[in-house]
Amino acid sequence: MATMQDCLFCRLVAGQIPSERVYETEAVLAFRDIHPQAPAHVLVIPKQHLDGFASLDERTAELPGQMALVVNEVARRLAFFDSGYRVVCNQGVDGGQTVGHLHWHVLGGRALHWPPG
Ligand code: 5GP
Ligand code: ZN
Repeated sequence: MATMQDCLFCRLVAGQIPSERVYETEAVLAFRDIHPQAPAHVLVIPKQHLDGFASLDERTAELPGQMALVVNEVARRLAFFDSGYRVVCNQGVDGGQTVGHLHWHVLGGRALHWPPG
């Protein structure tokens, strides 16, 4: 389990790494992805450290709901709420997860292809 010192997104939450914040609540932070894959590409993360989607359990079961509300607020603020958007969570090695702190990708601003690679 990563600690705040070695987790990139924990350091970002703490302000030790700069980021372009889009919106935040007490428990959730939304910021722009450093390598955007769409005109709007935002990452939504819990401020508390969880390794990934698979770490969600009874104790943290309220977090996905809070994250979902932030996703929709981001979509409204960045003006793709009506045109549509995609929410993606990569879990583990085969899921393509590269940062070990739970995050949802929110992609908008263009028509997205399906299925993903
Ligand atoms: P994953 O591959 O784990 O699903 O997604 C990790 C995402 O984090 C990638 O899209 C990557 O571009 C983004 N990312 C990695 N390092 C940083 C960083 O320091 N700042 C920001 N804003 N995004 C980052
Ligand atoms: Zn973390």
